[in-house]
Amino acid sequence: MRRIIKKFNLKKFNTFGIEVIADYFFAFTDIIDLKSFLKNDLYNHLDKQVLGGGSNILLTKDFKGVIIHPFCKDIVKKKTTSNSYLIKADAGVNWDSFVEKCVENNWYGLENLSGIPGKVGAAPIQNIGAYGVELKDFIEKIETINLETHELEIFYHDQCNFGYRDSIFKQSLKGKHVITAVYFSLLKEPNLVTSYKAVEEELNKIGPATAQNLRKAILNIRESKLPKPIDFPNAGSFFKNPIISLSEFKKIKSKNPEIPHYIESDKKVKIPAAWLIEQCGFKGYKNGKVAVHDKQALVIINTGGAKAKDILNLADKICSKVKKTFGIQLEKEINLI
Ligand SMILES: Cc1cc2nc3c(=O)[nH]c(=O)nc-3n(C[C@H](O)[C@H](O)[C@H](O)COP(=O)(O)OP(=O)(O)OC[C@H]3O[C@@H](n4cnc5c(N)ncnc54)[C@H](O)[C@@H]3O)c2cc1C
Repeated sequence: MRRIIKKFNLKKFNTFGIEVIADYFFAFTDIIDLKSFLKNDLYNHLDKQVLGGGSNILLTKDFKGVIIHPFCKDIVKKKTTSNSYLIKADAGVNWDSFVEKCVENNWYGLENLSGIPGKVGAAPIQNIGAYGVELKDFIEKIETINLETHELEIFYHDQCNFGYRDSIFKQSLKGKHVITAVYFSLLKEPNLVTSYKAVEEELNKIGPATAQNLRKAILNIRESKLPKPIDFPNAGSFFKNPIISLSEFKKIKSKNPEIPHYIESDKKVKIPAAWLIEQCGFKGYKNGKVAVHDKQALVIINTGGAKAKDILNLADKICSKVKKTFGIQLEKEINLI
């Protein structure tokens, strides 16, 4: 790949397949490369935006600045303790290839996060999660370059304010750092999470409860439920699952006794956004060049040539109806750029 490109079409760099043009695109291969680019007088005054695999974003307009893309791809075992391995993975490593490598090497913990698109560098941003596992439980520290000072900084786990699909990098430090590598603390012994019924059932079909088989089970479930961006351009879950108070939940449940829910800590209840959207009649709903997927109501798809405004109009329609019907305000999971 050429490393600095002018007037770059980002169509292949976002899984919604939206065509927008960035003034500049820069792919860095290591920290020294990134630092020298940031110091270069030709570029240091420009707006900057980091883009990994583009699987959690909606590009709303041409980008007047430089898109920074991690192209560093090393994975190194840094340390072994009595019960864990410290593994450093560069930001540009494909997330699922990393999980595959961990499973192959018996570095345990990430099996349930198999099949999530994107790059390692983006994974902590929204603390990716699936099938009962969240990334935060395996992060020791994160290495970044501060876009203002150009200095290397380290954020230890406790400094990252991880939450449900959330971290400090989506909040107060949004857009201020480039994550260049992530250090994972992975287990020496398997501790397989099979608490989700679908996972347990699929695993039973495959064979003994090993990390390899758990990864296979997760990949099978995802394959059967989630539309592939290559067939149906999308950015995964468009909305977060709303977390509401117990009293709000009781009111809704009195009118909808069948409402699915998960009790969170401190008297909060999480409701699957897909269920709310489906109840409002949007599953499979088509609106011009966009649609709600017919198997997974949380996924909005570009059915061909959609612009961000088409997707946002449909998202607004869904939000208003859910608010009117249940009194719940949906929040977008994806990032608007
Ligand atoms: C089909 C499908 C299924 C999905 N399933 C799941 C799932 O099960 N669970 C889940 O949690 N997510 C899921 N996602 C969402 C998405 O894959 C993850 O959020 C992923 O981590 C995004 O990675 P990315 O490299 O594509 O990030 P991008 O979309 O490129 O970027 C996302 C955000 O992170 C920032 N960013 C990216 N890289 C860096 C970096 N190195 N430094 C600083 N900022 C950076 C960007 O500026 C942007 O704000 C799914 C998406 C799709 C399309």
